[in-house]
Amino acid sequence: MSINTNLSQLQSQLPDQVTLVAVSKTKPVADLMEAYAAGQRIFGENKIQEMAEKQQQMPKDIQWHMIGNVQRNKVKYMASFVDLIHGVDSLKLLNEINKQAEKNDRTISCLLQLKIAKEDTKFGMTSEDAHSIIDSDHFKSLKNISIVGVMGMASFTDNTMQIKEEFTTLKNTFESLKEINPDLLEISMGMSGDFPLAIECGSTMIRVGSRIFGARNYTK
Ligand SMILES: *Cc1c(COP(=O)(O)O)cnc(C)c1O
Repeated sequence: MSINTNLSQLQSQLPDQVTLVAVSKTKPVADLMEAYAAGQRIFGENKIQEMAEKQQQMPKDIQWHMIGNVQRNKVKYMASFVDLIHGVDSLKLLNEINKQAEKNDRTISCLLQLKIAKEDTKFGMTSEDAHSIIDSDHFKSLKNISIVGVMGMASFTDNTMQIKEEFTTLKNTFESLKEINPDLLEISMGMSGDFPLAIECGSTMIRVGSRIFGARNYTK
């Protein structure tokens, strides 16, 4: 099936309040342009270098989301254009994003990545970490970042009950953080395999790749 068809099928399933991030990692610019031609304007990448290369080649009305783990020494390569960084998992990283945003005279929006999966392979902070960051004077002094929500990845499992539990944990953490910081708006959760469940559990932003662009080939 074509990218165009995949996208319109997907869009027709989404409630109005849910934003679709088209996850285009490993895919060639031609594929992204097909999605662009179909009206998609938000793309998610997990490698900073790859995102920067694509950004240079593509129309400038695209919003670029960094959804992967961010190495601090690479923040500078995306600071001039990135629209939302999903995977912020430490205050140290926030410091660096703030510094690079300041150099570029902009404010960069971030999501705090929470560890909701039981697997050890998934990154993210605890709910306590997130609370103490949002509550800290140091965080409040960072003028060039804005935390607009949370992000999480559920376990890779067929156990729907478990995934639902993990999404619900993220939703509850979001609600309690929002009491401290009313600016929080977004809950980034849900991928190709679990986005309907994520939406049921309160997701406002889904990150969908293979369902739009087809399976990824990492061996190339
Ligand atoms: C690759 C990736 C996705 C998209 O995965 P699909 O299963 O292809 O939809 C979503 N979120 C993150 C963080 C990813 O790395």
